[in-house]
Order: sequence, then structure tokens, then C-alpha cells
Amino acid sequence: MTLRRIVLATGNAGKLREFSALLAPAGFAFEPQSAFGIEPPEETGDTFLANALLKARYAARHSGLPAMADDSGLEVDALGGAPGVRSARYAEDLVATMPRDEANWRKLLAALEGVPEAERTARFRCCIVLVRDADDPSPVVGEGTWEGHILGAARGTGGFGYDPVLAPRDAQFGGRSVAELDAAAKNLHSHRAAALRALLAAWQAS
Ligand code: IMP
Repeated sequence: MTLRRIVLATGNAGKLREFSALLAPAGFAFEPQSAFGIEPPEETGDTFLANALLKARYAARHSGLPAMADDSGLEVDALGGAPGVRSARYAEDLVATMPRDEANWRKLLAALEGVPEAERTARFRCCIVLVRDADDPSPVVGEGTWEGHILGAARGTGGFGYDPVLAPRDAQFGGRSVAELDAAAKNLHSHRAAALRALLAAWQAS
């Protein structure tokens, strides 16, 4: 099988491993955009799809190769879908005083103070895009979500981002937060894994 070289528009080594594990058997060989000296562009989109698309097109334009990019975040129903595409930068006002991830989930818990459990529904969402070249008119898209609710207090030390405050809905997780799951369980059930599987199916159908 000929391996298809694809630039991955991320600087995150964990994502490179995760994407490679799932897509190498389908013939994809990923190279990080840093190997081409590509700095990430500003994420100016209003949606996960728009941001993933602009990152993928940018990496394809500057490498001359097909490129894949993802964008993800947390949507909380009681906050009208916030923090959404602003998930990484939600607590910009607090980052001087504590680590960014902690600032983000602390601000979220404060915003949901007094909101009952039934109204704390939320989900991680991930959108992944593959473009064959920078101007590809029909990008391959995969989207995935991981439904749950926001806990009243942070729990667990694994993972990153909002993992300590989201408990997946699925009964098999017993109400634990994502930060209390082992990495293998997260990698199997996460929004990113679902989006990757959807992208692979869309690719094979295209
Ligand atoms: P990015 O798409 O990797 O840049 O993620 C944007 C932000 O969404 C991260 O900084 C986290 O705050 C949040 N996020 C995305 N995926 C996850 C996850 O799997 N767990 C916890 N937080 C996440």
C-alpha cells in the first residue's frame, strides 16, 4: 500500500500519535506542520468547522501537501453553547493567576453556580477536515461529540482542559469525570475519536 503523506496542522504531539494510530492502517502517514516551519494561523472562524478548514487550507498552502486539521471545544447548553470556539481562551482574565486549563474550568463552574444538574448538559465537540490541496472545493469532514454534564466541582487529575468538570452521560463511566478515566478509555470514546472515525468513513466513501 502506498502511504499518503499528510501534513497535520497541529503542534500537539499527542494528537499526532492519536491520529496516526487510527489512520495509519488506512494508508495515511502524518507529518507535523512544524516540520515545514509552518506557524499556526489565527483562528478567526465562528465555528469549529470554519477554524479546522482555515487551519487545513493554510497548512496545505504552505507545504504543498494534503493537510488535516481539527478544532474542538466545549458547548454548555445553559450558556447558549459557550465557551464553544472560545474554549481555549475562555478565562483570559484569570490566566495571569493560575494555569490556563484551571482558569477555564474555574470560570465555567462559577458561571454555572446554582444551576441544577438536569440543566448542566454539555458536550465536547470536534471537527476534523482533510483537504487534498489548499483550494480543495470538497474537503472531507468528520464531526464527533461526547455528551455529558458539568459537575458541581472538579474531579480527577488525568487529561487536560475541561476534563475534570465534564462527566460523560454513558452509564459505563459511572458518573466519573473525564479526568478520572484512563487515557485508553478516553481515546476510544472521545469526541476526537468519533470525529476521526467519521472522517475515515467519509474519506472511504469519497
Ligand atoms: P483545540 O481544538 O485542541 O485547540 O482545543 C480547544 C480547547 O477546547 C482546549 O484548549 C480545551 O480547553 C478544550 N478541549 C478540547 N478537547 C478537549 C478534551 O478532550 N478535554 C478537555 N478539554 C478539551
